[in-house]
Amino acid sequence: MKRPIDTRPPDPAALQLDTALQLLKQSGHTPPPGAPGSAAWLQGVIDALCDLSSRDALTGLANRRSFETALNREIDRVARSGEPALLLLLDIDHFKRVNDTHGHAVGDLMIKAVSDALLECVRPMDTAARIGGEEFAVILPNCPPAFGQTVAERLRARVEGKIIAVGPSQHLGVTVSVGGAYAPQWVRSSPTIWVERSDLQLYRAKSEGRNRTCIEPTPVSLVSAEEKGLLFGNTVSGDLE
Ligand code: GH3
Ligand code: MG
Ligand code: MG
Repeated sequence: MKRPIDTRPPDPAALQLDTALQLLKQSGHTPPPGAPGSAAWLQGVIDALCDLSSRDALTGLANRRSFETALNREIDRVARSGEPALLLLLDIDHFKRVNDTHGHAVGDLMIKAVSDALLECVRPMDTAARIGGEEFAVILPNCPPAFGQTVAERLRARVEGKIIAVGPSQHLGVTVSVGGAYAPQWVRSSPTIWVERSDLQLYRAKSEGRNRTCIEPTPVSLVSAEEKGLLFGNTVSGDLE
């Protein structure tokens, strides 16, 4: 026999929310709006927890988990729409020296400065993430190959323009090496391969002297308009979303 659906709001006293609320308070989230226990309030708690679990605590950028979700979504979208998407990987140059000479707190300031530079450059549709200690990634949907080098270079230059105050009269500069690759269009590929290709370019940027950007040359698409029609019917690529 079917049970009637219980539409009453949950009893807040019966919910174990203390730890979650404490966590949100510690991380600087404002209390959710609405009366405690109301559906709007609970939704606010859920939204804030989702935000907390998808962001890097030091920088506020997307964390590795949310980067992977975005990457999966993007590679899928590129395969369906054929739109060009660029993945950039960035790694701070000679970061170990900074930690060893000035300590981890200064290292953290440097990581924060790089993340600020990225946020100043990216569009709302882009995903800027901290994917490791001093490693970052930027996913740029709908970025034509003709602009890839310019966009990557803008990020690199913005980072180079940052100055980190270490003491009253001591300042440090910071540089990053950048590697990038485009997602293969019209074919299903794997996020792992996309990351590996970008990483290879990052390795190249490091070995060619650091503080530079290397983008994998884009192969000319071998899929003709007729073949795209066969794959997707007569749908215009933009309609596939
Ligand atoms: P390279 O130019 O080749 O990248 O040289 P590097 O010294 O930057 O080498 P690498 O990228 O391997 O160095 C990573 C170092 O980053 C190792 C570790 O001491 C430091 N590190 C990793 N995570 C953090 C963090 O969260 N905070 C701080 N302060 N340091 C970190
Ligand atoms: Mg590194
Ligand atoms: Mg490094």
